[in-house]
Amino acid sequence: MLLTKDILDEKDKHLRNKNIDVEFPLSDKEKKLIDDMLEHLYLSQIPDKAEKLCLRPGMGLAAPQVGINKKFFVICYEKSEGKFENYVLVNPKIISHSEEMIYSEGGEGCLSVNREVEGIVPRYARITVTGYDQDGNPVKYRVREELSIAFQHEIDHLNGILFYDHIDPKDPYKNSEYMRSI
Ligand code: ZN
Repeated sequence: MLLTKDILDEKDKHLRNKNIDVEFPLSDKEKKLIDDMLEHLYLSQIPDKAEKLCLRPGMGLAAPQVGINKKFFVICYEKSEGKFENYVLVNPKIISHSEEMIYSEGGEGCLSVNREVEGIVPRYARITVTGYDQDGNPVKYRVREELSIAFQHEIDHLNGILFYDHIDPKDPYKNSEYMRSI
């Protein structure tokens, strides 16, 4: 299984490298990695499992965070108490987005960033994303609110961008009056 030590820290160059499109079919190794990433995120959100395994809670992971410079990410989203939904996005693209912007009230977290970062990250309230699943089937998701933020955060990873790149350290709450906090 994928442990905390397997997730690269923000200082690692892999997080800033260029990521390439995934070719289908995925290798067995890539498919196994996707399963392991989803398992890690699921367990990290179950408090007693997370404590036992020393996992920080997280809902998303992108391939570069585990040292693979390819375009895919996974999300394990707790839709309602104890009910999780998995998303696997390969070669994703944002094809449309809302005008409305939002930000996460408590700031964004990242399994590669092991410190508090002050400030807000502007995100689209709603986006539509296309891509493929791990078997090469085309997928299209329309996501909003928290999931929209998570998708944009992970797509940023595929472009070598970390969430705090969007924060102006001199004015960490810049333009917050024009956005809705969630
Ligand atoms: Zn992240």
